[in-house]
Amino acid sequence: MPEHTPVLELSHVSVAYRTAAGPVQAVNDVSLVVMPNEIVGLVGESGSGKSTMAYAIMRLLRGNAYVSGGSIRVLGRDVYAMGRQELRKFRWRHMSMVFQSAMSALNPVITVETQLVDTLRSHLPNMSVSEAKDRAANLLELVRIDPVNLKSYPHQLSGGMRQRVVIAIAIALEPELVIMDEPTTALDVVVQRSILDRLQEIQADKRFSVLFISHDFSLVSELSSRMAIMYAGRIVEEAPASSLSSIEGHHPYTEGLLRAIPKLTADEITIKGIKGHPPDLVDLPVGCAFHPRCPRAYEPCRLFRPEILATESGRVECHLFAEKEVL
Ligand code: ATP
Ligand code: SF4
Repeated sequence: MPEHTPVLELSHVSVAYRTAAGPVQAVNDVSLVVMPNEIVGLVGESGSGKSTMAYAIMRLLRGNAYVSGGSIRVLGRDVYAMGRQELRKFRWRHMSMVFQSAMSALNPVITVETQLVDTLRSHLPNMSVSEAKDRAANLLELVRIDPVNLKSYPHQLSGGMRQRVVIAIAIALEPELVIMDEPTTALDVVVQRSILDRLQEIQADKRFSVLFISHDFSLVSELSSRMAIMYAGRIVEEAPASSLSSIEGHHPYTEGLLRAIPKLTADEITIKGIKGHPPDLVDLPVGCAFHPRCPRAYEPCRLFRPEILATESGRVECHLFAEKEVL
């Protein structure tokens, strides 16, 4: 794959849930590109549409969810134009996902070894069982689990080890794109740190692309080169992670998330959350969806939805940026 061809290309993607109260527009006109060997962070409060976006990319939306517009391309291929067989071969081989909960991603009645061997052999039918077992042991070593655990069932492992197994399965077939949806949120800080450090090393070595999803702004900015900030189903800002070390000059929602990062002072932790709650997606506020919570809202914000504007290093959706003197 040429270096300049995106691994993931979201173009005006919308995803909705059918509900009795009407469609819930969980993802609303989202465009985003992830290039080869790049880690892009997708952040936002709970309910902003991050997981829905992830499931839509994998074409794993369930029940009442459906893609209502736009296109999703992975390695230049339209994920929704593939036949079922084609999709089955493509998923895990070229794009994989690490889910929030390791327990729900793993089969509780099958050993770790069998889960890894099955994943490998379902896509590489010429691989012998013994080859697959060797590869399974290598994969466990890669994620820093002693291969003696191959014969374990998921419930016999700690939460951190289970999540490492899920990561091993996700990278088993060396896919070009790995989507990670809050992969370590349920774990304690020390385990989380060690898994993420290892993940960064593996990514640097294998050079796959990652869409890393989390509500934890500082964690994502540490891992990613670029960040997309999501609010009420829309990407309201996209910026290089390096630019997010300073609070000023960003979308007011991004600024709010940056201010909400806990600050450790001499004898206390200060947390300044964003006031209010994300809006009801069935009945979004007119104008900018953030206006009821925005400390900088002014008249146009209550009337018109802001355009997407290019910035020096990314893009932003806010009226203030169209009126530079207000910044
Ligand atoms: P979290 O971090 O809590 O998972 P998120 O940013 O990933 O949040 P989503 O889980 O994608 O957000 O949810 C986006 C919106 O879609 C939410 O407002 C949620 O209430 C709504 N939603 C999710 N699942 C359904 C469903 N099955 N039916 C109706 N609405 C849903
Ligand atoms: Fe705030 Fe207005 Fe910008 Fe929306 S458009 S973020 S309400 S200033």
